[in-house]
Amino acid sequence: MNPSKGCILCGDELVYTNDLSGLTCHFCGKEAVNQQSCVNGHYICPTCESAPIEELIMTFCLSTAASDPIAIAMDLMNHPSFSLHGAEHHFLVPAALLTAFYNFKGQSGMKKVALEAAYERSKGIPYGFCALNGTCGAAVGTGTFISLITTASTLSEKEWQLSNMMTARSLDRIARSGGPRCCKRDSFIAFVTAVEFMDELLGVRLPGNTRITCPFHASNRNCSREECIFYPEKKEK
Ligand SMILES: [Zn+2]
Ligand SMILES: [Zn+2]
Repeated sequence: MNPSKGCILCGDELVYTNDLSGLTCHFCGKEAVNQQSCVNGHYICPTCESAPIEELIMTFCLSTAASDPIAIAMDLMNHPSFSLHGAEHHFLVPAALLTAFYNFKGQSGMKKVALEAAYERSKGIPYGFCALNGTCGAAVGTGTFISLITTASTLSEKEWQLSNMMTARSLDRIARSGGPRCCKRDSFIAFVTAVEFMDELLGVRLPGNTRITCPFHASNRNCSREECIFYPEKKEK
């Protein structure tokens, strides 16, 4: 980690320690090999610090036991290799949802196959699909998630319906929030909509705080600021 920027997860100061006992990488879970961590005990190994972003998403989703999809996504989005806007959000959304869902259900052994399928399905969605094809990749990611957990196919009935309904709900909310596109805002909306959908239609109530305050607004020159529901200084209307 870059000492001048602090911890990428919590922003606090980085320190050197000679006691590596119990110190593990936040993303892959492996034991620490060098001595720099933050004052809150966050450690990131050299491999995870420089891993390609899709690989890091996969590594973290397989290793974490978290069941709050927004917390999972936030840690990944804070990684310096994660773009402010980019096609990796199309994989992030189904990956964090699948991880949270299977961890919550006590079925973490199901994650690997599902995550690999989500990666294959999402990698065909290019950056800018929202504007060029009128379908945000984060919304598609919620439909991919429902398709995978219900094992939908083109010949399914209820599962096919739920998957398409999921995408429609996310996309409607994303569209109503207005442009310009913001991959953070649109992903947050997708997560909140998917969590509500699971509760309402699948009877699965994931834990976690869904009241999101966006930490990325300052680095986004196109941020719609007070117009965005996730803007920290949003004035109450
Ligand atoms: Zn930290
Ligand atoms: Zn690591």
